[in-house]
Amino acid sequence: MRTVTVVGASLSGLHAARELRAQGFDGRLVIVGEEPHRPYDRPPLSKDFLIGRADEDRLALADADETAGLDAEWLLGVRARGLDPRGRGVLLGDGRTVSTDGVVIATGAAARRLPGPGPAGVHTLRTLDDARALRGELIRGPRRIVVIGGGFIGAETASSCARLGHAVTVVEAAPLPLVPQLGAEMAAVCAGLHRRGGVELITGTGVAALRGAATVTGVELTDGRTLPADVVIVGIGAVPDTAWLAGSTLALQDGVLCDEGCVTALPQVVAVGDVARAGGIRAEHWTSATEQPRAAVTNLLAGRTLATARTVPYFWSDQYDSRIQFAGRYREGDTVHLAEGEITDDGLPGESGFLARYARDGRTVAVLGVDRPRAFMRARRELQRARQPEVRRPEVRRPEVRRPEDRRPEGRRAEDGRSADGPSDDRQPPERQEAAPVGP
Ligand SMILES: Cc1cc2nc3c(=O)[nH]c(=O)nc-3n(C[C@H](O)[C@H](O)[C@H](O)COP(=O)(O)OP(=O)(O)OC[C@H]3O[C@@H](n4cnc5c(N)ncnc54)[C@H](O)[C@@H]3O)c2cc1C
Repeated sequence: MRTVTVVGASLSGLHAARELRAQGFDGRLVIVGEEPHRPYDRPPLSKDFLIGRADEDRLALADADETAGLDAEWLLGVRARGLDPRGRGVLLGDGRTVSTDGVVIATGAAARRLPGPGPAGVHTLRTLDDARALRGELIRGPRRIVVIGGGFIGAETASSCARLGHAVTVVEAAPLPLVPQLGAEMAAVCAGLHRRGGVELITGTGVAALRGAATVTGVELTDGRTLPADVVIVGIGAVPDTAWLAGSTLALQDGVLCDEGCVTALPQVVAVGDVARAGGIRAEHWTSATEQPRAAVTNLLAGRTLATARTVPYFWSDQYDSRIQFAGRYREGDTVHLAEGEITDDGLPGESGFLARYARDGRTVAVLGVDRPRAFMRARRELQRARQPEVRRPEVRRPEVRRPEDRRPEGRRAEDGRSADGPSDDRQPPERQEAAPVGP
């Protein structure tokens, strides 16, 4: 392979570039990124960056030395708009084409938006530019803030806004946020954190409309109430960024379909990170985006699937001075029990937090820690060890190349802007969406 093009210059794209060099690829390496910025870390955007505890320098994922060492051509501020049917050319938005022998698709996901343009004061939070704009509003004195969506991004943002002294209300359409990820019992504990942080949580009610002509003034709920608002933050999940692949031969279904080694139907095209539906699972976790590139690059350079990227999924979230950590995968019907620590009578984590285990057919399949990092990491390692034999005997199923008649716009949209296949949450898409269930 003489040229490899990485499309997406963020976490998983950078890790893929590192892996290419680490695994001996010494050819031309091109990195295409729509954003004008060098790779930066997103988790602080809803946390330390928003509250002013981390500045932009702290977000950089690679320093100047490492960047120089990668010896890559960085094409930043330009969007890829197509991949030719054989995967040998990446078409750029400015009219150029990068001829290539291999492609790493690392285009991540974009914040799901409410339909229509929206008045000023309405924000999403996915990119550095989003975070800059929101932070600019938050430092202008006390505001009334409505956060739409009680998922992880919504909860973290609400927590940061409350910490800055703003009056915050979270609106969640489901009876309880985070149930698909944590199950009802533990989701109720996390919902209690809003209360503890002085944030009002309204559940079981959707958003009918935003009020305000030039600037937002309120949020009209489907139950008839209107919440006054100076700032609205829309945190209703993310959509994998696959629109640019619509004319390619790759199979797209809530992400780029690939096998467990991140290889698509074209052996010289792999997909990693938030955009990849690898072995039936698309995870929106920082850790997956850093782990998948190793196997993906091995397979890309070999021209076939030699390694798989199946690990125990893991994510964390920081809200209201609590650290939530989750490993494994929850499915409806799993039982959950408190293994360590305490949940108070008010349904909140006790002072030294807690560890909960999820079981299916007598086996631990997931663990949740709230402010119990050591116990959690131990339990996570146990889960990983239990998973090992499965990792060594992977069943690799490659997706088929799409025939032209199979092509349809990816991610059918429902009228409210959510995917008609069901909302994919910001950290873990519901199990029901998986084409091939792969339990831990
Ligand atoms: C605010 C926030 C907080 C988070 N907090 C946590 C956390 O606490 N814990 C956790 O586990 N995870 C967290 N995550 C998730 C984690 O950051 C993601 O899983 C990770 O960023 C995925 O990396 P990625 O490189 O696959 O995709 P992305 O980071 O989305 O990067 C994709 C890049 O590709 C670019 N791109 C898209 N389309 C094109 C195109 N056609 N051409 C060129 N470039 C393109 C995009 O502009 C973007 O720069 C958080 C995410 C956000 C947004």
